[in-house]
Order: sequence, then structure tokens, then C-alpha cells
Amino acid sequence: MKLYDVIVAGGGHAGVEAAWIASKMGMKVLFVTMNVDTTAQMSCNPAIGGLAKSHLVKELDILGGIMGDAADHSAIQFKTLNISKGPAVWALRTQNDKMVYSNYVRKKLEDNPDIDVVQDELVDLHVKNSTVIGVELSLNGMISCKRVIITSGTFLKGLIHIGTTKIPSGRLGESASTILADKFLDFGFEIQRLKTGTPPRISGNSINFTDLPIHGSDDKIIPFSFRNSSNFLEQRPCFVTNTNDETHRIIESNLHKTALFSGQIKGTGPRYCPSIEDKVYRFSEKPSHRLFLEPEGLYTNEYYINGFSSSLPLDIQIQALRTVKGLENAHFVRPAYAIEYDYFPSYQVDSTFETKNIKGLYFAGQINGTSGYEEAAAQGLMAGINSVLSIKGQDPFILKRSEAYIGVLVDDLITKEIREPYRMFTALAEHRLELRHDNADYRLLDFSEKLGLLSSTELDFLKRRLENIEILRGHYDNFTVRLEDLNRLLFHKGLDQSSEGSRLNKLLKRPQIEIDDLLEMDILSPDEYSYYEYKQSEILVKYEGYINRQKELIVKADKNDNIKLSNDLDYSKFSGLKLEAIEKLNKVKPHSVGQAGRIAGISPADISVILINLKKMGKV
Ligand code: FAD
Repeated sequence: MKLYDVIVAGGGHAGVEAAWIASKMGMKVLFVTMNVDTTAQMSCNPAIGGLAKSHLVKELDILGGIMGDAADHSAIQFKTLNISKGPAVWALRTQNDKMVYSNYVRKKLEDNPDIDVVQDELVDLHVKNSTVIGVELSLNGMISCKRVIITSGTFLKGLIHIGTTKIPSGRLGESASTILADKFLDFGFEIQRLKTGTPPRISGNSINFTDLPIHGSDDKIIPFSFRNSSNFLEQRPCFVTNTNDETHRIIESNLHKTALFSGQIKGTGPRYCPSIEDKVYRFSEKPSHRLFLEPEGLYTNEYYINGFSSSLPLDIQIQALRTVKGLENAHFVRPAYAIEYDYFPSYQVDSTFETKNIKGLYFAGQINGTSGYEEAAAQGLMAGINSVLSIKGQDPFILKRSEAYIGVLVDDLITKEIREPYRMFTALAEHRLELRHDNADYRLLDFSEKLGLLSSTELDFLKRRLENIEILRGHYDNFTVRLEDLNRLLFHKGLDQSSEGSRLNKLLKRPQIEIDDLLEMDILSPDEYSYYEYKQSEILVKYEGYINRQKELIVKADKNDNIKLSNDLDYSKFSGLKLEAIEKLNKVKPHSVGQAGRIAGISPADISVILINLKKMGKV
């Protein structure tokens, strides 16, 4: 076999992004996965995005990633969440056809002449002088390469639990990867166990949809990717139902039979995503829990029962779910289950996802202790980009917390001690108003251009769109709405009439007036600019004051992030540091003074000591 620049092991959301972006940056890539048919498989929800996660998808998209585009092409429902709140927490969530998503991504990789796809298992690494030089595949043997990115997800010693039944597996119906984890122990890595769970899939033919509330798509769709604007798949609704007293009684009386409560599961699960038995036990005062019935695709009749993840025995799952309205005759296609798997506590990678133990080796995705497709994809993309930059001998690409949710994700992973599967929340980002999902394209465009992640056609399109937004803003500053039109609008909105016309920007700053109103009332022409351009220019006008204040705060907050700390610093040589601080700093090896300050147990006094020492060393 030939020598590859980058070998990516694992065909989940992290792996596909890593392989894709490395090839885009001019590398020859080998993409190895245990089952090609499950490339970019959604192991759980048939959905992409949602709160905070949609920010990651938008950022991935502008940085050349696949996820946003694939989500748009496979979406059977587009829904903007939190629309009644401020734009900082708006989020897009798509319900997706799982198979279309997976096939779309697989085809993209297969069509790429710089990516070779191979179905095989990575079983060992070849390492020389603490640097990776190749991999050992179960069937194809030794293959040489410059960099290796491992994205094995929930597959390392994966163990499925359904009641007392245990099945070694990476996902239901797929083999676990059992050899690789032990090899990593030999290389001196620390390995821990985590747990996650998934609900049952039932046949749509067995659901009585009559009287179940419906959740449909948005009327006006702004997709994830700037590349897409129309030709979406046929849209499908979700349905809502609720558990009740009888459901809870059955679950409660069988708690001892769940893998979780019987003590069979040792790994830590995500508190923010509890199983149904966990919810019934922990929130016993709640008379019911909401369940969403989500279609798994256009070409299947399976429904995903969102909110009912469980490790109860199958017969109890069936009994409990059949007490729920609409699900009285539920036919289970696949059971709910919990899965435990090995992961690597993330202090073992640096901010590029390169491992500290072995040079040229990167970990990305669930293997680093995260949960979620979007979190995995973001890591895959960053590991892919950084592996290429290191081959080219260029500076790493590290996003600040103030620049992107991806920056927050990476910083949290390498700085904090992660004890349960990490997922992204808006609350984790301190600069939420600046890090909106709607402005990701323009926050990150310069990086993308510099790194060569977009084609010239894509860049031209984005720059033209930005110009249009600026033109619109200028128009709002200068254009006065005639009194007659203004009063027509105010009447339509149930607001008091005015005695004089109004500048558009003043009008848009009013909380009750939205750009959609101006378009609807023909004060602005819907055909002149795209809906995105109108919406984006509206946000910039409406929230101008808040956005400017946030920018000032970011400048202050970034001060310490701009003071870099090199990897080879030995903090035991820093005079005046406490032993605990020395140990933590030597373990984490922060890349900036800002990051050092975010390590648990590092105080502002420690930061002052670090700064004094750096000054003495002539480094600041
Ligand atoms: P995965 O998607 O797990 O992909 C791993 C890939 O690596 C697979 O293609 C596998 O074949 C391949 N592989 C593994 N080992 C090797 C090897 N040695 N050689 C070659 N290839 C290998 N996320 C949520 O956000 N919410 C949830 O509710 C949720 N529930 C989940 C429930 C279950 C049962 C599971 C399994 C996952 C759940 N997840 C959930 C997590 C979500 O699926 C993952 O976070 C995401 O898919 C991780 O992406 P990844 O690329 O890291 O790994």
C-alpha cells in the first residue's frame, strides 16, 4: 500500500470530517472504518443541531465541514428553536432521514479522489521515538503514514445493556473494537468508562396518531449551509405524547431490573440526558414526561421515541410504552439500550487534539469523552485541519472562546476535568451574543480563507452576501418609511399610530417590529435580497448596542488568552507557585495564560505569579 499523509480510523461524525478536511487541504487520506455501510451513522436521534449544537454545525460549515450540507440535504423537518428569545440562543434543528444523511456523506468521501475508503479495523499503531509512523489493520496489515486520527466513538470495548442481557457491541448489531483499547494501555494512556443510552424504535404502522399534537417545519427555511437555499426533501412532522401514572408505576416496580439501578453499569452517564427510569426515579413528583415521536426517514416506517431511552428488559419496555397515548399497540422494531465504552480523559490531548504521549497521533470525537454528533464532528474537523498544518510545518489553528463555540468546546476539553459525557450548551459560552449561529459565516470567514478551506466560488458568494448586508444596513440608516405605510404597519401590529414617518433603522430597533413585517407589508421587497441577508441585517441593527458592548468585553477577556505559553515550560521552575498549581499546570500544559486561569484550582494569584515569572524570563 502507498504512504498516506493522514489515516483516519473511524467512520462516525468525527472521522468523516477529519478525512474530508484533510483531503481538502491537499492531503492523501486513508479512511478506515469497521463497516462502510454505517459511515456517518446517527447512532441515536435522527436529528442534527438544536440548542448550542446548531452553532457548532454552522461553524463547521463555514470551515469547510460536511455536516451542515449533509443535514440540509437529508432534512425532513427544519425548525428554528427559541425564536421568541434573543438571537444569541436561536438554534436550528433538523429532523433527518438517517439513511439519506449517511449515504450522502459516504458518497462525498467515495467520490473524492484524494480519499481511499477501506472497510477494516485498526488494531495497533506503529510508533518510533514516541512518534506515530503507521497503523496496523486487521486485514490490510501495516500501512505507513505521517499522521493518524482515531475517532472510534462508542466502539472501544463497547458493551450494550438491555436489562441483565449484555452484548459486546459498538452499536446494536455492530461489533465492538476490542483489541485497540488494550494497545493504548501499553502506550501509557489513561482509559476510563462512560455510558450513554438510546430509546426504542417502533413501527409507525403501530402508532395511533389521531389526536397527537403535531410539530411541523418552519414556514421560511434558513438552512445550515450557506451552500443551500432550496430543493429540500419532502417535510415530515413529529408527534408529541406523554407518559402517565401507569407508565411510571410499571417502571418503578421494575427499577431493580435495569442495568443502571442493578449496578451492572459502571460508566458515568450524561445527567442532562437521563433515561426514562432515571427521570421517573429522580423526578418522582412529575406526573408525566413528554415524548416526541420522530420519523427516522422517508423510506422507513420506524419512529424514534425521543425521551424514552432505557436499559430496562425488553418486555418491561414494551409493557411501559404501551400505556402511553397513541402507543397502545406499539410494535418494537429495535429495543432501547444503554452502552458502556472506553474513552480517554481529554487532558491527554492538546488544543490541536494531538496526544501528548505520541506525536502525530490525534484523538477526536466521543473517544475524548464527549457526546453528540456535532461535538464529534467539530473535533474531527479541528483534528483534521491541525494534522495537516503540522505536516506542513505551519502554526496550529486554535480558536478562542470568544471566536467560536468550537473554541469553547476545545478549551473546555483540554482544561476541565470531564467526568460525564460532555455536550455543548449555550451557557458554556461566555460571549453568547457575539457567538450567534446566524453570524458564524462572518465570524470565521477570514480563517477559512487563510486556511484555504473554501473554493473561490464559495468565497465570492459569501463576500457578495456580506456586501449586500452592508448595503441593506446603509439603506436602513437612510430610508424613511412614509407615514401612510408606517401607520398601515403599526395598525397591522396592533400598535399606536404615529404622526410622522420613521427611519427604517429606528423602526427595526423597536422590539415589536420584525423584518418579516416589513417584507409582508411590502415596505421592503422580498425579491431584492435573500431572506438570510434581510434577517442578518435586521439582527445587526436591532441588537447593535448589545453587540458593541460584548465586543468591548471580549477585548478585555482576550488579554490573557493572547499571552502564549509554550508546551516545554516546566512550572516546577517557576518561583512562588504552590505545589498543587505546579502539578495542574504541568499536567494540562495550557497554551495561554487565559487557559491557565480556567484550570480548576488555579487562582488569580497563581496567574500573577505566572506573569511575573514570564516577565523575568523575558517572555512577556
Ligand atoms: P461514532 O459515531 O461512534 O463512530 C465511530 C466509528 O468508528 C464507527 O464508524 C466505527 O465503525 C469506527 N471504529 C471504531 N473502532 C474502530 C477501529 N478500531 N478501526 C476502524 N474503525 C473503527 N449523542 C447525543 O448527543 N445524544 C444522545 O442521546 C446519544 N445517545 C447515544 C446512544 C447510543 C446507543 C450511542 C451508541 C451513541 C449515542 N450518542 C448520543 C452519541 C453519538 O452517537 C456520538 O456522540 C457520535 O456519534 C460520536 O461520533 P464519533 O465520530 O466520535 O463516533
